[in-house]
Amino acid sequence: MTEILHANEPAADARLSRRELIKAGGAISATAAISSSFASQANAAENKMPMSVLGRTGVKVSRLAFGGSWDVEDDVIGTGFDLGINFIDTAESYRDGRSEVRFGEILNAKGATGHSAARKKLWLVSKTHNHAKLENQLPGSLARLQQDYLDVYYMHQVQQPDKAGSAEIKAAAERMKKSGKIRFFGFSCHDGMVVECLNAAADSGFIDVIMFRYDCHYYKRDDLNRAIDRCVKAKIGLVAMKTQVGGMTLPDRYNPFKQRGLSQHSSSIKAVAMDERISSICSEMTNVNMIRENAESVASKLTTAEADAIQEHARLVSHLWCRGCEHLCKPASGSGSQLAIADSLRFLMYHDHYGKKEHARDLYAKLPELERNMIALESANWQAAENACPYNVPLEKLMDRVKERLA
Ligand code: SF4
Repeated sequence: MTEILHANEPAADARLSRRELIKAGGAISATAAISSSFASQANAAENKMPMSVLGRTGVKVSRLAFGGSWDVEDDVIGTGFDLGINFIDTAESYRDGRSEVRFGEILNAKGATGHSAARKKLWLVSKTHNHAKLENQLPGSLARLQQDYLDVYYMHQVQQPDKAGSAEIKAAAERMKKSGKIRFFGFSCHDGMVVECLNAAADSGFIDVIMFRYDCHYYKRDDLNRAIDRCVKAKIGLVAMKTQVGGMTLPDRYNPFKQRGLSQHSSSIKAVAMDERISSICSEMTNVNMIRENAESVASKLTTAEADAIQEHARLVSHLWCRGCEHLCKPASGSGSQLAIADSLRFLMYHDHYGKKEHARDLYAKLPELERNMIALESANWQAAENACPYNVPLEKLMDRVKERLA
């Protein structure tokens, strides 16, 4: 980490100014972050979980959502419910279906099944990677979750905007809604062509909710801000995920949060919670302390010291963090153009920064052989790919690390 940090300092124009960060909510909508009427702040005073209306669904969801890609435990979920979380996000792929199974057991034990009052208080989302066979996949998720319906069903990890405008997908979504098995339809987007995907959704008229990767480093992107505004105007409910800037924690001597005695995790959550266009923040909360910290963060204001630390952190790490837009670097990589660059770097992030070494290696091993081919990895033109990356990500070094740690 240190070596890469020194090897490739970010350009000055990549820096995020404090003014920009503080302004971020306001840059997005005139009444945003610094407005005293902002719901989360008002609710914080009453020590309640802030709630937001999720776009055209008209439903109020908690501004904090359970991300279910971990080994879900009863006490953690129970604490979240006690703190006012009503939003659960899972997927058929999480833990190979075990996440849905565990949530099913927990919800069943709480009587939150069928159309019971307990079930109606919840907002339950699942998703599938099999976008071509949505209606085939849905019954499996419902069975594992022990549910009659989902509040939203997502296409998982949409990377191309054509999905958001597809007539076939629209027809499938309408049939699933008509059957009563889903109430709303949407997609998740890990980046890549996030701007294009959001814009396509704003135009298409059948996407109700989108969950996308969004953190305070994104505030600078005018194109993304415009796309978010278009979605809000189209009444699409927006949920943020991966708010932790790739989970990058710097060594103590560089760490701007440690130097100020602050929590990086909490500051990053608060910075996203400032954006009132985002109805909820989906977070993987694996223990009770994390839930408590997150619940407090979504209901609190970002302080000046936290904004300063975020600005400094952005300056130090923005070049180390892959945004997933591999359509920009892949074509330049020659023989690497078949490789899963963004996925590989995301799994490396899980390995290096999330402490999920085994999970990361597992995910990497599940990539199609062509996308992790060793000969292509070694013969790719990473220097040219690096030159094509607008964020100056040191691809050559990071792909070496992928080879060492994941392959
Ligand atoms: S290396 Fe750069 S261009 Fe390639 S996916 Fe990552 S951020 Fe995008």
